[in-house]
Amino acid sequence: MTLVAFLSGAGISTDSGIPDYRGPNGVWVRDPEAEKLSTYGPYMNDPEIRRRAWQVRRDRTLLDASPNAAHRAIAELDQRHGIAVRVITQNVDGLHQAAGLPARKVVELHGSARSVTCTGCGVRTPMTEAVARVEAGESDPACAKCGGILKSSTVLFGEHLDDRVVAEAVAITKGCEVFIAVGTSLQVYPAATLPGLAADNGARLIIVNAEPTPFDDRADSVLREPIGTALPELLRTLGTPV
Ligand code: ZN
Repeated sequence: MTLVAFLSGAGISTDSGIPDYRGPNGVWVRDPEAEKLSTYGPYMNDPEIRRRAWQVRRDRTLLDASPNAAHRAIAELDQRHGIAVRVITQNVDGLHQAAGLPARKVVELHGSARSVTCTGCGVRTPMTEAVARVEAGESDPACAKCGGILKSSTVLFGEHLDDRVVAEAVAITKGCEVFIAVGTSLQVYPAATLPGLAADNGARLIIVNAEPTPFDDRADSVLREPIGTALPELLRTLGTPV
């Protein structure tokens, strides 16, 4: 069994209509105030920030987005005989799972925007339920169990990544035979440490990204073509005996 690990970033989901919030045209660049909606302190302390954050969640197309050819190609690779796939993702859109990859094979470094977490009791419920309450007129829906403040199950600015999630990503990175970084600039921790770790442990390193990354010189191959065509083509040939 060949373990193929992917590290995916915002670039894999732009074909699904999800903007890159940190990119050159990102929402946060155009509207610095918007960043407060995703920062833990202001979110917890200011009901007006939460009210605005719920309106953004209601309006966002993220919950309606569909997986694209790259997500599907990764899910299909997992079906292939002799290959095991694991995905480590910086994305919170849930599109790898929507493409058919089992949830247990996806490590979400920054959490998921498809659910909400109570900051009081920790219970997780679907985002669609919370958004339905906002649409029904609640400006800042509270936890139905304990009355606590609800937030998206994503890692906000000012919050730490989950240690267990990072440990799982490291274990996958160390154990894989092939490591493919796709649609990530590899500049944010822990994504910035994983390709080097994979290469140090003997994995073949492949980078698929529109822009140069700090790891291009360590990679066995670098693909600059659009992800939606480059990744399916790459995966078709992967593991084919030559
Ligand atoms: Zn609660």
